[in-house]
Amino acid sequence: MLAVENPANGQRITTVPDAGPADVDKAVRAAVGAWPAWRVTDRHAALMSCAAVVEEAAPVLAPVLTEEQGKPLREAEAEFTRAAARFRYFAGLRIEPRVVGQAEVHRRPLGPVAAITPWNFPVQLAVAKLAPAFAAGNTVVLKPSPHTPLTTLHLGRMLAEVLPPGVLTVLTGQDPLGEHLVTHPGIRKINFTGSVATGKHVAAAAAADLKRLTLELGGNDPAIILPCADTALLAEKLFWSAFANCGQICMAIKRVYAVGSAYDGVVEALAALATEVVVGDGRTPGTRIGPVNNRPQYDRVIGLTEEARSDGARLVTGGRLDGPGYFFAPAILAEAHDGMRVVTEEQFGPVLPIVRCSTVDEAVGLANATKFGLCGSVWGTDEERAADVAMRLEGGTVWVNEHLAMSLDEPFAGSKWSGLGVSGGVWGIEGNTEPFVVHRPAGAR
Ligand code: NAD
Repeated sequence: MLAVENPANGQRITTVPDAGPADVDKAVRAAVGAWPAWRVTDRHAALMSCAAVVEEAAPVLAPVLTEEQGKPLREAEAEFTRAAARFRYFAGLRIEPRVVGQAEVHRRPLGPVAAITPWNFPVQLAVAKLAPAFAAGNTVVLKPSPHTPLTTLHLGRMLAEVLPPGVLTVLTGQDPLGEHLVTHPGIRKINFTGSVATGKHVAAAAAADLKRLTLELGGNDPAIILPCADTALLAEKLFWSAFANCGQICMAIKRVYAVGSAYDGVVEALAALATEVVVGDGRTPGTRIGPVNNRPQYDRVIGLTEEARSDGARLVTGGRLDGPGYFFAPAILAEAHDGMRVVTEEQFGPVLPIVRCSTVDEAVGLANATKFGLCGSVWGTDEERAADVAMRLEGGTVWVNEHLAMSLDEPFAGSKWSGLGVSGGVWGIEGNTEPFVVHRPAGAR
């Protein structure tokens, strides 16, 4: 069995099954068996039922999510709201065949999908994989992170009740379970969200069998603050774009490049917000930032912060709080520079380095000097100027005067090492299907 821990107090909540190769084989066989009927079923009603299940589950499972993940209850509830909306969105999405010359281009499903999720948004990210896979006509075996398996397991059982047998199986277990799943010959598509390092293993495993692949990987998103920025006005948005979900968001702002006169104002305004914000147990009303999700991640955030300080960064506010939970008050690291790991690597936690730049060109150069390429943003009162600078960033999505905003119909694609393939909107369906061309003689149609 696998122990599930509450990061707010370090105590064991319960245990869940620690599945192995035989469980993978059984689940994939069920997914293979269910696929022929599922791919020709009208799935609209099934997806709408899934949306209803997610909504009904929210009052019961949101507290469970808070307990195992750490996030404030309101944010746990929001995961369910967004997940239900996603099922509804994909229930209504249709891709019609396209006619190109003498060819009709159809899309057909791929077969059983392995869906693998990390621990930062267990419900939202699971449904981001399930909804387009089901809409496209695929069956799914879903594996949540060993740090947050509980809510997904419960929700998966509830969803399985409104789906034909075998269409969805949730398997919980340690990291090697992911490897067993992605190497199983019955799996035809892998939809993976997690770190760059694991993503590369998954890509290698997919290559051996030429399985189709979507990777949503880590980010180290830069935010460039132009000298024309009104730092008092943007501070709140900027702060939450970095520290929401305790900084554990792939596309959170992870490094700030403040140009010229913007620097002092940004440091001061972010530090003021960081000092005020309520950090605590996500189950306590009023908590805005919960604990870091797990011990290894907590140790990493502490280590990166200490390393930066010993290399000359100034901890303006924040840092490790007394246990027993993994609490860390939002940390503002001034005078950071690009030689520090907290700047060059993905910290994935509540510490934000701020780098002083002399020119916009310098900021753009530093922002792009990385293998990551998920997202980025540019902030300034001169919106046209900010948009021009944003066009020079190398992320898959760039924002002007905001960060994190995204709608269900937008494509989401990481550039460079941050991802492979596209999800979201019609691209989500395309990623779960392949083209199928019917070519007929001229004049036959
Ligand atoms: P991780 O890579 O350690 O684990 C992710 C999942 O992969 C887990 O379920 C894990 O058990 C599984 N896994 C581990 N080894 C495997 C293997 N060899 N084969 C198959 N599966 C395997 O990542 P994490 O620490 O859980 O999550 C944090 C990372 O996820 C961060 O880098 C973050 O940026 C990224 N992330 C990306 C997005 C995105 O959409 N781009 C969204 C959320 C999180």
